[in-house]
Amino acid sequence: MVDSQEDTSTPSASEEKPPVTRPKRRRNQPLKVANQIPKQRRMEIEKALEEPSSTPRKWSRTSSWKSHRIGKKLIKPGTIRNLEFDLMDVDIGESWPIPVTVIHGIRPGPVVTIIGALHGNELVGPLALTYLQSSNIMGEGQAIDPLTVAGTIRIIPIVNMPAYRRRMRYMTDGRDLNRFFPGKEDSNTTSRVANRLWNELFSKSDHIIDLHTAALGRTNMPQIRANLANRNSNRVARSFGIEVILDSQGPKGSLRRTADENGISCITYEGGGSDEADPESIQIALYGILNVLRSLKVIPGYPSRPRFRLLASGSVWLRSDQGGLLDVLTPAGSFVEEGELVATVSDPEFPGLSMEIRTPTQGLIICTATHPFVTTGTPIGHLIPIKKGVKTVQKRLDQEGILVLSGSDGEPPWRDDEEVEDISVEGEWEGGSPDAEWGENHSSAAEEEADEG
Ligand SMILES: [Zn+2]
Repeated sequence: MVDSQEDTSTPSASEEKPPVTRPKRRRNQPLKVANQIPKQRRMEIEKALEEPSSTPRKWSRTSSWKSHRIGKKLIKPGTIRNLEFDLMDVDIGESWPIPVTVIHGIRPGPVVTIIGALHGNELVGPLALTYLQSSNIMGEGQAIDPLTVAGTIRIIPIVNMPAYRRRMRYMTDGRDLNRFFPGKEDSNTTSRVANRLWNELFSKSDHIIDLHTAALGRTNMPQIRANLANRNSNRVARSFGIEVILDSQGPKGSLRRTADENGISCITYEGGGSDEADPESIQIALYGILNVLRSLKVIPGYPSRPRFRLLASGSVWLRSDQGGLLDVLTPAGSFVEEGELVATVSDPEFPGLSMEIRTPTQGLIICTATHPFVTTGTPIGHLIPIKKGVKTVQKRLDQEGILVLSGSDGEPPWRDDEEVEDISVEGEWEGGSPDAEWGENHSSAAEEEADEG
């Protein structure tokens, strides 16, 4: 962890001492992080992938294929149905219906559930899933045709409708729906909704793609999070066709973790911020979903692949040591050198003073703060240290030094999987306990908020 526990340099408001910049002090500290998957974790992943029980299910493309059932509704093979699913099972009062589109293919295959707005103010998912259903998504005048689909695609653009209507992250009782799975039928409102969603929809999936953005006050460079020791999640995460994949199980009660514990593959996509509709994040989400569906052979066509993949399990939080107003100089997606200035903090009550925040190591900034108010300790950026494959990453930077993500500059090219450079899996973990960054530090409430948007 780069944060110093014995930081005594923070001046109080009454002292006239100018703020001290951090990099000098930091250079003297051993840095206990690397982007590489730790050796022990890598062995865990490899072992899990070798187990016969984790072999992906094979679908007979010729066997008979039944109607798809959601509650009492039956959807016939080769059809599309738009239906409503009630979040609450009540006779009186609000039942909170949410729209569900089912594209039930003509041939057998996996059930893929794709969802947005588990957090009500995260709008990249709802927009991407609306566009996924457009009449031009498969080419001029071509929607996804159930007669070409093998398996079932269930599209749920807005899961947390009560929060979405209120333009908020949380459910009406102030709880985070993505911390209550699998839920209980006799507990609080959020837990009951989670339980109904889990029992009726999510647990009956083979694969789940869960679309998110950063929480309020932050923005994420598009990235995937998945438990890479789950064979199917690993496969789906890679097939999304994106450069950055974080090996992470997700917080307790999150859909990703719950699905994983129940043998269902689940990946979380993070792109952009809350309360905004970042066009690049929407576009990359759309390409990613099509890539997954193609890779699973649910829809026809070849998936596109990125030039390289960063498989990361370590990361560094950049924090402000001072309070005041933040100015971020390197947006999410920036490749930064060690000691590079990434942000300044100033305080209108102390005009003329400006505190610098510099990077402790070379790497890629995958998340930045967007809210200018900071106090000492506020995370202002999330950095993946990059020590290997630097040249490969640098080849894909624009003039501003920002990573040009696959899919952000038009339809990405088809590429053989062998041509994709996996940068960090072969690498070595450099000191510290394997889960130092992902483990304890991320389980505190604040960090969890920052980590899982
Ligand atoms: Zn979220």
